[in-house]
Amino acid sequence: MGFTRLFRCSPVPWAWRSAHMKPAQIWAQPPPRWKHSYKAVIFDMGGVLIPSPSSVAAAWEVQNRIPSGMIIKALVTGGEKGPWKRFMRGEMAVQEFLQEFGTQCSEMIKSPVPVDSFFSLLTSGQVAKQFSVMTEAINRIRAEGLKTAVLSNNFYLPNGESFLPLDRKQFDVVVESCLEGICKPDPRIYKMCLQRLQVEPSESIFLDDLGHNLKAAAQLGIHTIKVNDAENALKELETFLGFPLRNIIPNTCPVRKTMEIPRDSLQKYLKNLLGSQAAGPLEVLQFSHGQSNPTYSIRLANHHLVLRKKPPGKLLPSAHAIEREFRIIKALSDAGVPVPKVLDLCEDSSIIGTPFYLMEYCPGQIYKDVSLPGMEPSQRKAIYSAMNQVLCQLHSVDIKAAGLEDYGKHGDYIQRQVQTWTKQYRATETGTIRAMERLIEWLPQHLPEAQKTTVVHGDFRLDNLIFDPEKAEVLAILDWELSTLGDPLSDVAYSCLAHYLPSDFPIIKGLSDLDVTQLGIPTAEEYFKTYCCQMEIPAAENWNFYMAFSFFRVAAILQGVYKRSLKGQSSSAMAEQSGKLVEFTSNLAWDFAIKEGFRIFKGMPNTRQSTRSYSQWAHRRPLLVPSGTRAQATFSKAASKGVLIISPEALSEPVRDLHHRLERFIEAHVYPIEQELRNHQMSEAKWTPPPQMEELKEKAKSEGLWNLFLPAETDPERKYGAGLTNLEYAHLCELMGRSIYAPEIFNCSAPDTGNMELLVRYGTEGQKSRWLLPLLEGRIRSCFAMTEPQVASSDATNIESSIEEKNGVYIINGHKWWISGILDPRCQLCVFMGKTDPNAPRHQQQSILLVPMDTPGIRVLRPLSVYGLEDPPGGHGEVLFENVQVPKDHMVLGPGRGFEIAQGRLGPGRIHHCMRLIGYTERTLALMKERVKSRVAFGKPLVEQGTILADIAKSRADIDQARLLVLKAAHLMDVAGNKAAALDIAMIKMVAPSMALRVIDRAIQAFGAAGLNNDSPLAQFFSWARALRLADGPDEVHRTMVAKMELKR
Ligand SMILES: Cc1cc2nc3c(=O)[nH]c(=O)nc-3n(C[C@H](O)[C@H](O)[C@H](O)COP(=O)(O)OP(=O)(O)OC[C@H]3O[C@@H](n4cnc5c(N)ncnc54)[C@H](O)[C@@H]3O)c2cc1C
Repeated sequence: MGFTRLFRCSPVPWAWRSAHMKPAQIWAQPPPRWKHSYKAVIFDMGGVLIPSPSSVAAAWEVQNRIPSGMIIKALVTGGEKGPWKRFMRGEMAVQEFLQEFGTQCSEMIKSPVPVDSFFSLLTSGQVAKQFSVMTEAINRIRAEGLKTAVLSNNFYLPNGESFLPLDRKQFDVVVESCLEGICKPDPRIYKMCLQRLQVEPSESIFLDDLGHNLKAAAQLGIHTIKVNDAENALKELETFLGFPLRNIIPNTCPVRKTMEIPRDSLQKYLKNLLGSQAAGPLEVLQFSHGQSNPTYSIRLANHHLVLRKKPPGKLLPSAHAIEREFRIIKALSDAGVPVPKVLDLCEDSSIIGTPFYLMEYCPGQIYKDVSLPGMEPSQRKAIYSAMNQVLCQLHSVDIKAAGLEDYGKHGDYIQRQVQTWTKQYRATETGTIRAMERLIEWLPQHLPEAQKTTVVHGDFRLDNLIFDPEKAEVLAILDWELSTLGDPLSDVAYSCLAHYLPSDFPIIKGLSDLDVTQLGIPTAEEYFKTYCCQMEIPAAENWNFYMAFSFFRVAAILQGVYKRSLKGQSSSAMAEQSGKLVEFTSNLAWDFAIKEGFRIFKGMPNTRQSTRSYSQWAHRRPLLVPSGTRAQATFSKAASKGVLIISPEALSEPVRDLHHRLERFIEAHVYPIEQELRNHQMSEAKWTPPPQMEELKEKAKSEGLWNLFLPAETDPERKYGAGLTNLEYAHLCELMGRSIYAPEIFNCSAPDTGNMELLVRYGTEGQKSRWLLPLLEGRIRSCFAMTEPQVASSDATNIESSIEEKNGVYIINGHKWWISGILDPRCQLCVFMGKTDPNAPRHQQQSILLVPMDTPGIRVLRPLSVYGLEDPPGGHGEVLFENVQVPKDHMVLGPGRGFEIAQGRLGPGRIHHCMRLIGYTERTLALMKERVKSRVAFGKPLVEQGTILADIAKSRADIDQARLLVLKAAHLMDVAGNKAAALDIAMIKMVAPSMALRVIDRAIQAFGAAGLNNDSPLAQFFSWARALRLADGPDEVHRTMVAKMELKR
């Protein structure tokens, strides 16, 4: 987003400042000081930044007894074709020029002229030096955010370098005539300069000492200033720009009319305070910042002070507490923290109308631009390091020793802040902002466990620090208005806000579109790390939480600004602009909440198996030792590795906690929207993803309930997943199975899970970054295309689609069907199985290609339905692939390895459906029990009918048997490997769908006709369980496998 354009002339930056104060402090502010619309100042060099050739010549002529004005006369003689112009266009070397020029001069005065000595003087170090007033002015111009350029008619020196005795870093653009081959006043060179500055002529001001150069600039529409002497030129420039450029007390302006203070009584007071030498004129200027508590620069005799006062008018008692500011600055100064030296607090309102305090003016450098333009990376690094250091110094102050124990409440700072800002946000809310709603729920649930209490600044950022101009050292920390006692990490996060804002953000100039590392600026993470290291505290792993909180606070503040702008005088466009800022910052906050969710998720336990040998292990321990409790495991709870855990209570503590959170999430958020989701699937909008699901996905991510499926064996370094064992995941997956919609909400749904696993196992780094990462983040979806209508696809070797290599690409032709997920608008990847070599051995004919869904030639013919249900928005599509061209690097593993991959793809994922089927049936039985307890037929509740009781009993036994088999298969996959678990995998695939059908059928019967309708999940469960008797491979195939293995035993 181009914020500069969006917020040009906007009052938002100012409003931010006032809104950033404690809510009660907001009062009627004067309008912002609105300035000019210039964006750049362009300087000529000779005669503007350094002495002009004519002034150097005049002095040299006197010294060498040469007639006055001869040199300049000779220089201009000849016009465009003369030696001087040619020299400046880089067309002549020095020697050539001096020779021609020397002859010309000698002829003019009829005697030899030592032009070499003039040239040496002109280019000598002591003459060619930039005027210090100009250096000061340039710094000031840049500090105000304007660009600067030098546009010079110069020449080459004998060493081949161009003559430019200036620090190039002061300028955004340098245009030199000898390099460009064009001289002023040629309009092309001005245009070149403007273009490089990226400004319009009317947005720039040009300073030159020569009238014809200025005239050419003015003709292009550039504002011009003739420089006769630097001081006067700068005066004129000041009036153009509207800010001072000389003898500056930075950030000051004349006192605003409404902010005048009575000078006589102030002068009298100062005399009493400073002694009788404090005589003479009193100079009072106002600082442009300090809008809430007006702040003044006071000069009297040789004293330079800063006065800060309460604003006039009726104030709330706690507002504008300058007494607090005085107290904290004094206490911190005594504790050795660099702050301005405070002199006196005057609570007598009769002196200047309100209480005020005085401090010494601290000269130094304030860096307004966080990117620190014009500095070397090492200098920037040093500045940020000094900033970090001084923050540590502040946070290390002993509150008790400094007498600040009662300066704020102790503990729960973040909690209180979240409450306060939530309240503020609610009070000014104008509409629903999804990210704010999520944050309001998420933040209180993720508060940091341990919060230290120190002095916190509350507005700690680079432009609130005064630096030593010579070295990277903080001389004073300013603006203590928001200081209190609180969690120090909030200050650290606050000082990193700019890292995530774009450079044209209207409130704080940001760094997000710059390469901070290249600039030498630490990343936010590095900044936190350095801080923690210096404070000798453990690394703040939850720093993303603090960033989320800081941006939430910013968004809440901006909402207040927006609300006021709607009520006030702002145009509707401006109000709309500030409204956009709230959305922008709240989305940033939410991004951090998600990152924190991923961190929690990454922190899940890594349960690795000590052995993969089932037989070895089986000899050592019995397979199942009943514990006599309902929390069942073969061994103790403390060490769950390699243990067959048959109830979630026996899971290791972190996984149990995960189980608990997942269960709570499903109950609190998924069940309540199921009916809406079912209705959506029957509505006209069914082929678009339901927004409620997307909303819940965000929430799940932020709670770390995301991508739980990738097992430790596929992702041993836990790069992509939680690294749970198959057994641990079986318990979680069963929970997700309780709702048809839950698996997708946690990014654990087929066919994405299988495809992600495929990419983790077999994908190249390029394939992973293109497809795996967006899938893991839930940004895209995918499908798996194997089944074909014309062949019995339960036997994958039958697959006929062709993949031919031609002209360096693969060309696909084929007809597929039952491709789940292909109709989803988010589906961007099709994992395609086809034949590369029909003549190869049977199991080496197939290959797998990654086909982007937007490749020409893919045509979805129709959605297929299961019992009339189309399962939108993913659906199951019938698809034609006609001459679909795919680059060769889209092949997975290599030609002929498709069968091998398809087997691997169905590795651990092979029993996910079974795990979910157990979830379907648990939910089904629970619904059935509830229903039969509440309905009466033939004089007694249904539950008392014997057949119902029998059905309940059968269902319980069915479910428990199947669950044990699922868990056993998962356990064997963990401890003995997938190959050793093949029999158990086949058995559960054979058993689970039919078992589920029986249990669901009994429940439907008990529900009566209602069981068939979509008012409950039963109909969907039934149709899915039925489909799974085919979709996960036909029962018969699994039965054949079990029988064959049994016969071999
Ligand atoms: C809801 C749903 C979603 C699906 N999603 C996908 C998907 O995303 N991608 C994809 O590629 N495919 C998908 N499929 C297709 C599924 O994988 C196939 O339907 C399955 O592999 C069976 O293939 P087929 O339909 O060609 O049946 P066939 O191979 O024609 O088999 C028909 C019947 O023959 C009998 N039979 C087959 N083999 C044997 C045997 N060895 N012994 C005894 N009897 C046997 C069985 O009764 C079997 O049901 C999905 C199917 C459904 C229903």
